[in-house]
Amino acid sequence: MITQEQPTFREQLGVLEKTGKRHWIFPKKPQGFYTNLRKIFAFLLLAILFGMPFIKINGHPFFLLNFIERKFIIFGQAFFPQDFFLLALLLVSFVVFIALFTVVFGRLFCGWACPQTIFLEMVFRQVEYWIEGDASAQKRLAESSWTREKILKKTLKHAIFLMLSFVFISTFASYIVGIDRLKEIFTGSFSENWVAWLVIGVFTGAFYAVFAFIREIVCIVICPYGRMQGVLLDSNSIVVAYDFVRGEPRGKMKKGDATPKGDCIDCKLCVQVCPTGIDIRNGTQLECVNCTACIDACDEVMEKIDKPKGLIRYDSMNGIKTGKKFRVTGRMIGYSVVLTILLGIMATALAVRKDVQINIMRTPGMLYQEVGTNKDTVSNLYNATLVNKTFNTQKIRLELAEGQIGKIQWVATSQELVLQPQEVRKITFFVQIPKSSITASTMKVKIKAFNTETQKTLYNTETSFLAPAE
Ligand code: SF4
Ligand code: SF4
Repeated sequence: MITQEQPTFREQLGVLEKTGKRHWIFPKKPQGFYTNLRKIFAFLLLAILFGMPFIKINGHPFFLLNFIERKFIIFGQAFFPQDFFLLALLLVSFVVFIALFTVVFGRLFCGWACPQTIFLEMVFRQVEYWIEGDASAQKRLAESSWTREKILKKTLKHAIFLMLSFVFISTFASYIVGIDRLKEIFTGSFSENWVAWLVIGVFTGAFYAVFAFIREIVCIVICPYGRMQGVLLDSNSIVVAYDFVRGEPRGKMKKGDATPKGDCIDCKLCVQVCPTGIDIRNGTQLECVNCTACIDACDEVMEKIDKPKGLIRYDSMNGIKTGKKFRVTGRMIGYSVVLTILLGIMATALAVRKDVQINIMRTPGMLYQEVGTNKDTVSNLYNATLVNKTFNTQKIRLELAEGQIGKIQWVATSQELVLQPQEVRKITFFVQIPKSSITASTMKVKIKAFNTETQKTLYNTETSFLAPAE
């Protein structure tokens, strides 16, 4: 009989003993095609992570997320709190992307690009293998008494873990405060930078705790993305899956045993390499982070026993049941179209984004004034916030747009405003329109801002203008 489930796996987490105590996982070091590919990919991502803070364009960071001063530079473009809608759009697109991507490709992100997996499997675990050896040696060391060798190995490992945590946290800090400020913190006096040191120290401790002790518990219990798998995956999602049709009934090959057997020889290597301690032969499980270690382990076994590779592979449950190869479905096309539209909206919003943003509001509580010798002009007071989103000084003048009769009179400032790079300035001004040009008691006025040096129009906006009723 073809069976896909073992009786206990739904009742007990692989990382817990029956008593509820933590069962420490000692995964065997994986090796093979997918592991090598993941190593190359992880190396590229780590190179980007560590290299990006050093990249500057015209003296400005290429990427900066300064939440403290609310300054953001993404791919060389400065963003401000006024661009919040763009950030919100980006976040929504990202969530939709992850959701749609997961529906089709399962937890591909977890295995290949998730920082938790990359840092744990490609950095911290590699140090562990280097110092303590493979799984069986690690287990022996953990169970042994505190000999000189054990003290030395554990001290060395945890010292390197702490150092790595400090390097990672310093790198994250450089994304927030910039690499120059980070250098200042490291080279400046401690008394002036003790708050920064305290923050870096606390986060280094937390980071160390995650990668030295908490580890796979993050993926299994804490990560919200992991929790969403139950609603995102369906039987057509591509996941790391065991081909139970081909593999069952599992069993060791014995000479003279005529009982029909599947391709799984029950060597349990796929279980031994699993960093979350599960048996993929029980089917898709929430704990599986799609790390591909079991694919490589099983492929090696299949090679040895002269069977085709791929007993564990990327496939959908329906693919395994029907034996049909992966094909592009209407659902995938549909999701891709939605994603493309979202990305299109993002790209358009970025393309039409202005160098200078101006928000104009009529001053609250003020109606209108009648000015001029014969009270023949109507004046409204406005407040404006100007944001220079560029790294250049902008000399700005405001005018009523072409075809509108009237003028703009600034209050307590010259008629030209010099806006420093990334400066946010609040100003107050009057719009004055002759009564003869007023067409309604509430009308629209169009205001344009232009650079007085280049004469380039920087911004066009529209606001309301109040006048006495006829
Ligand atoms: S590694 Fe392959 S053959 Fe060995 S137990 Fe796992 S599925 Fe079966
Ligand atoms: S079941 Fe396989 S792919 Fe999933 S976490 Fe374990 S080793 Fe990785």
